[in-house]
Amino acid sequence: MSKFKAWLNDVTLGQPKYTIKFALWYFFDNYVSSIPFAIMLMAVYLFLGPVIDPEAAIPVTGILILCGVLLLQSIAYYFVARKTYIVGCTGFADVARKSRIKMGEHLRELPMGFYNKHDVGDLTTILLRDYETVENNCNDLVPKVAVIAARLSLALIVLTVFDWRMMLATIAVIPLAIPLAVMSYRRLVRKNIDLLDVQQDNIARILEYVGGLQTLKAFNQSDEMYRTLKASCDDLRIKSLEMEDASAPIGMLAKAVLNIGIAVVMAFGVFLLFYGGLSPFTLIVFLLLVLNLYNPVMSLLLMLANITRLNHCADRIKEVMNEKPLSHAEEAVTPVDSSIRFEHVSFSYGREEVLHDISFNLPAHSMTALVGPSGSGKSTIARLIARFWDTSTGNIMIGKAPIKQLNADDVLKNISVVFQDVYLFHDTIENNIRMGREDATHDEIVEAANLAACHDFIMALPEGYQTLVGEGGSTLSGGEKQRISIARALLKNAPIVLLDEATASLDPQNEVWIQKAIDALVEDKTVVIIAHRLRSIQNADQIIVLDKGRVAEKGNHEQLLKNNGLYSRLWMEQQKSGSWRL
Ligand code: ATP
Repeated sequence: MSKFKAWLNDVTLGQPKYTIKFALWYFFDNYVSSIPFAIMLMAVYLFLGPVIDPEAAIPVTGILILCGVLLLQSIAYYFVARKTYIVGCTGFADVARKSRIKMGEHLRELPMGFYNKHDVGDLTTILLRDYETVENNCNDLVPKVAVIAARLSLALIVLTVFDWRMMLATIAVIPLAIPLAVMSYRRLVRKNIDLLDVQQDNIARILEYVGGLQTLKAFNQSDEMYRTLKASCDDLRIKSLEMEDASAPIGMLAKAVLNIGIAVVMAFGVFLLFYGGLSPFTLIVFLLLVLNLYNPVMSLLLMLANITRLNHCADRIKEVMNEKPLSHAEEAVTPVDSSIRFEHVSFSYGREEVLHDISFNLPAHSMTALVGPSGSGKSTIARLIARFWDTSTGNIMIGKAPIKQLNADDVLKNISVVFQDVYLFHDTIENNIRMGREDATHDEIVEAANLAACHDFIMALPEGYQTLVGEGGSTLSGGEKQRISIARALLKNAPIVLLDEATASLDPQNEVWIQKAIDALVEDKTVVIIAHRLRSIQNADQIIVLDKGRVAEKGNHEQLLKNNGLYSRLWMEQQKSGSWRL
């Protein structure tokens, strides 16, 4: 029973109560609407006496009772049908909507490690296909199961009233359908999983193809990628056909069972007619009702394919919802200032450790530059400060409070992040900047844009601040996108700024603008800058030099040059390449 409860909970997206209510109203609705048919049969039965024997009295009382029941049925039907309509109106759309929102909130709380395991195609499939499958199947299956239950139970009651022996003969073949259902179900589960996996792969291939088209064209690889996409579409076609092939025998076998049932009812009915005192009318009733009883059983068998699909998609949704979010403190603390401290921090994305025993102290309102060769761990440190991930060992303190004891919102409120891969949403420029602070007025947005050196280029756009930006910011240049993201950060005005300096060489004019925007942003803040060009961080209060995930050196520019270590080597190399460029 507890297994059934858990299953019901999963396939109804955590809303079993609503589902049961939905099913019960459909059940009543069908029950009540089938009553006239039963009354009609009884009326025929009552009239049959005087028709066969003209001497027999007309069953006035019986007929009056049936009329009374019909009247009550009409009244009851009005209320039941109305309520069923109201309950069924929103159907599972509302359940799915709430569950999608819940998943959205959950995804926000998951560590970035989750996104390492699940690519965009995977998550798109869950949020679109899996939810849609559960929603459509529940909308379709719940009323169907309720109708089947109503018809079956009513048919059983009516048939038992007429002749219980015939009723037993009628249902005798139903157990035959059980092994058939089990066998078919197992096969369907296998084929369905194959099909759904291929569907997911196909979505991922389509997203990859469309998203990477520009790069593919640039490297003349679009034919190769097209072939991969085509192979995936062909595979999808094959798996869909295999699935159809697996479902087809169920219908045929179910029909065979049904025919056996009709034959049994006919043979046993004729036997009872001659030797068991069965009236011809009762035999006719059974022959008429037998299909009413078998059709629902057949519909149930035909629903197996949908049920396997429903189970698989609900499992995938559950798997994501069961992912552990970043740990929450029982009692949240608030940071007292904007200092940052790493205490013996080690970290690994997967099995391999990429940061080893890192300790440093960044006083409030100071500027610290992280430098080091590619892959030395600079971005990883910035991500840990923003709590995109949790440390494996050691502590990170923000404002003298352990980061794990801060509310996720507190961390985000205190930190502005300006990374290189700026994402702009398919919305107006104004709303993209407003992401920094939701309640900002238009004037405040213009002020931030001015400070970030983007007001002029925004005003030159056809609709100024109301110009729509393509998804991902595809309609703006790299430098423009970065300045918009600085305007966002300026508007947010968080006490800590994490800044990833652009690696791509910018034209001198853009470089001047971006530098001006950054100067405005970092004023009086605790700044951590991931530096690629050492000359831009000569004046930093502290420079932390990383090498293979360890702190190699710490100090200011002059001290580090005197050390003659890694920093001084990197400085000399950049000086040389700079003079060569000149
Ligand atoms: P760069 O200057 O090239 O940006 P970095 O100094 O910022 O490099 P990180 O990006 O922090 O270096 O990477 C440190 C190590 O962690 C590298 O070995 C990298 O391959 C690995 N790494 C980075 N991001 C991930 C990830 N999402 N999953 C797994 N490993 C990662």
